Amino acid sequence: MPPQIEPLRITVLGSGTSVGIPTVGCHCDVCRSEDPRDKRLRPSVLLQYNGRNVVVDTTPDFRYQALRAGITRVDAILFTHAHADHIMGLDDVRPFNFRQRGHIPIHGSPETMGTIRRCFAYVFDRTEAETPIPRLEIRPLDGCPFDLFDREIVPVPVLHGKQRILGFRLGRAAYLTDHSEVPEESLELLRGLDVLFLDALRHKPHPTHSTVERSLGYVEKLAPARAFFTHICHDLPHARTEERLPPNVRLAYDGMEITVEEPG
Ligand SMILES: [Zn+2]
Ligand SMILES: [Zn+2]
Ligand SMILES: [Zn+2]
Repeated sequence: MPPQIEPLRITVLGSGTSVGIPTVGCHCDVCRSEDPRDKRLRPSVLLQYNGRNVVVDTTPDFRYQALRAGITRVDAILFTHAHADHIMGLDDVRPFNFRQRGHIPIHGSPETMGTIRRCFAYVFDRTEAETPIPRLEIRPLDGCPFDLFDREIVPVPVLHGKQRILGFRLGRAAYLTDHSEVPEESLELLRGLDVLFLDALRHKPHPTHSTVERSLGYVEKLAPARAFFTHICHDLPHARTEERLPPNVRLAYDGMEITVEEPG
C-alpha cells in the first residue's frame, strides 16, 4: 500500500525580523502594541506530518518557542541559512536529545553546515564533553530534492542580498524567509501551491530582504491559494497592514496554525 498522505500542519513559531518585536529599547506604536499578533519572535516554523516534527531554523528564541507550541519531540531540523537569528537556539535541542535518546539530523547547504560547525565548535570537535552537548547529525544538502520521513522536500534557492540561501517546499506548501529576490528558476519550483510563505520585512526597500510590495508581486506571479508574509519588522502593524492586503494574503503571526490541503 502506498504511504497515506496526511495533511501537513504548519505552526508559526516566530514571524519577526532578526531583532524581534518588540525591539529592545524601542517605543514605537508596534513595539508598544497590545495586539498579540504584533509580538514577533525570530522567524521559524514547525512542520508536522506523518507523525513527525520538523523545525525550520532554531532561532535565539527556540527554547521559548518550543515551550509555547508544546513541542515534545524534534525529529529533524532544516536550516535555511546560518544568520544568527536562524541558528543561535541550536543548543536548546538538548532536552529533545535526552527525551529521544538519540541524535537529531540537521539539514542545510554545505555552507550553512560549515558555519554551524564553527559557531557550535564544542558540539562537533571530538573532545570528550564533561557536560551534555547537543547530539546532532549533519546532513549537507546537495541542492536536490530529498526524502524526509516519506515526504519529498524540495530545496528552493533564493537570493538574500548577495548570498544564495534556501527555502523549502513540501507538497503544496513552501516556506521562504530571508530573500531579497526569488530567481526565475526557483519561481518554477513554486507553482501549484496551497500555502506560500514569503519574506516581507517592511514597505521601505532593504538590501537583503523583500518588501510587502515586492512579495505581493511574487504572489501575483505564482498564484498560491494562500500567502503568508513573515520576517516582519516593527514598521508593519498587524491589523492596519492586513486591511490593505488582498484576502488571500495575510501577515503570519506567532502561534498561527495552518493545515495544508493536498489534492485527494
Ligand atoms: Zn533572518
Ligand atoms: Zn519599534
Ligand atoms: Zn538572514
